Amino acid sequence: MAGTEHFARRALRSLAPSTVAACAGGLVAGIVDSVKGDGELGLDTAAATGFVLIAALPVLLVLAVLARAIWSAWRPREIAERLTEPGGGMPRLAGWLATVVLGTALFAWIVFRGTWLLVSWTQFKPKIVALAQPVIAVLGALAIVLVAPIAVSVIAAIARRLDGFWQRRGHATLLTPRKLFGAMGIAAAIAVVVVWLFVISPRIGPLAIGVALAPALGVLTLTVAHVIIRRFQRRSASRVIAMVVVALAGLCIAFAYVTAYLRPATALGIWGDQPIAGVVVERVFSLDRIRNKIPLDDYRPVERPGAHHPDIIVVMIDTVRADHTPPYGGKADMPVLKALGERGAIFGWAFSPSNVTRRSVPTMLTGTSPDRMRGRVVGWGLRLDPRHILVAERLRAAGYDTAGFVCCGGLYGEDLRTGFDRGLATLVIDESAEQLGARASRFVTARAERGDKRPLFMWMHFLEPHNWAVNTATTGPIGEQYDRSLAIVDKALVPLIAAYANRPPAEAPIIIVTSDHGEGLGDHGQRNHSTDLYNSQIHVPLVIAGPGIPNHHVIETVGLVDLVPTIIDLAGFEPPRGRSIDGHSIASLVRNEPSTSAGSAFAAMIADRSNPGGVSAIVDGPWKLIETHGVRELYNVHQDPDEHINVASKHPEIAYRLAAMLGVQRARARVSAFD
Ligand SMILES: [Zn+2]
Repeated sequence: MAGTEHFARRALRSLAPSTVAACAGGLVAGIVDSVKGDGELGLDTAAATGFVLIAALPVLLVLAVLARAIWSAWRPREIAERLTEPGGGMPRLAGWLATVVLGTALFAWIVFRGTWLLVSWTQFKPKIVALAQPVIAVLGALAIVLVAPIAVSVIAAIARRLDGFWQRRGHATLLTPRKLFGAMGIAAAIAVVVVWLFVISPRIGPLAIGVALAPALGVLTLTVAHVIIRRFQRRSASRVIAMVVVALAGLCIAFAYVTAYLRPATALGIWGDQPIAGVVVERVFSLDRIRNKIPLDDYRPVERPGAHHPDIIVVMIDTVRADHTPPYGGKADMPVLKALGERGAIFGWAFSPSNVTRRSVPTMLTGTSPDRMRGRVVGWGLRLDPRHILVAERLRAAGYDTAGFVCCGGLYGEDLRTGFDRGLATLVIDESAEQLGARASRFVTARAERGDKRPLFMWMHFLEPHNWAVNTATTGPIGEQYDRSLAIVDKALVPLIAAYANRPPAEAPIIIVTSDHGEGLGDHGQRNHSTDLYNSQIHVPLVIAGPGIPNHHVIETVGLVDLVPTIIDLAGFEPPRGRSIDGHSIASLVRNEPSTSAGSAFAAMIADRSNPGGVSAIVDGPWKLIETHGVRELYNVHQDPDEHINVASKHPEIAYRLAAMLGVQRARARVSAFD
């Protein structure tokens, strides 16, 4: 018994320093993670830190215990004695350390190079790459392990000789553990930075690695804390500090739990803003449960007396530049869109809210501007804060049948739970535009045959133009390659249009064709999108055709943040208002009625892991101001649609007025979109 008790006490005593060190590491990681979010310190920081601690504490504790176990199992002092050679140096240790560094670098190179070759051979078939990658890694590691002993002997021999030479000149040995480990640390750090800057970064483009900062500092704190504790553990002041550290960590964890259960809105804020704490929030409590607490009545649209409720089909074609489509003078073969333009409203100056899918589509689905959307980046999508309400949910609550025919799983699928599909009673996901068009057509026909009298809201999302370089035969100028992908989507719409062909004109659907952003295609030095806010990337088509909509051109500037209020209005309801709605209905412009629209649009690049952010734009009538990290460019897009002549210095008063509008937008961005 006494033996067991003794053992337990010893175990506890040896666990105590690790616990203190893990708490310190967790606190540092938590604070760093929180500061990167909103940056304001307060109770929310304590809660966010608590969430990080919930995840980090067990990991750090295990790391600390493992490190201590390895340390004592290997008996470093005995090893040191055995490794020390006449003269006091440890050339074999030098050999091993150098081999570890070189071997790691070689291993990384083999895996990276191998994966890169695989990607180019297979044209990026993720499954093949995923299967082959472990094989490359294992073979590479085996080869390195086989060669390692030889490398150690060779390097040790060289080190021995050089150190002997050094010592004969009257110096102390260079091969002490402290000097060797120090040199290895510096060499490894330099190697990582060099490889990152010159090899990895140029190939993968901008990628935020800030997420790694908090865990790295956590582990560093853990290590430093251990050293400090070893040195000062007999002083009483150090015990007080240790107790304070543990108490603080406990308090933060308590705050986290209180927040999760009593202040769900704060918890959701942390979920959206903080990289590591957010992951924990998601595990601790269900986002869907919060979602289900929002009653349906809260967002049911208000019926306009006597209004007709037409079918509404939104055709969202990813990555479409307005100037390549027929209604805007483009050469792409798009007869369906051309015909819609010839009978409906063509908005000459419609702008997408951002230049990347995951920032534009949420705004188009909610009516909330991109800088006020909340959520977490997942894959290529954005997992929406469950408090955002989507247009399909509003219309479904109003009695509409709702359906989505969309590409692809990465944006609408179950795995990533972006929430883009919320409110869609029927959801069909397919990669092929042809399939989506055919299935949507069959769906419409089947409803008619069933005698389903409910009006229909259909959301379509086609992706072909996004992958124009892959999907079409890659020959000819890039503009023509791109145009071919537009033609594929247009052709896919033929059966859907046909499904409505034999209905009386008053029962025809309202069809809205638009896009989430454009494509550089070489303009302003950019081939794709997500890189700037020039017209090539945000001037998108907006064509609306249907009963009661005369053929006309709209000259007013509009933003796709207006899409949701407009859809609700065209569906026969009062456009939604409230804190979450930044757009306004442009239905009067659609019907060619007199309008008082201010005619402006806002777009922003939101910083996340593959978008540098820091760029915003405002269009007011013909004037467009782009602000890039404080540098202003002004264009008259009616006269200079390709934005070649910056007139900011010629028209400072206009630049100033538009900059003030951006300032107002920035202030509004700080206001929560939720009640
Ligand atoms: Zn897109």
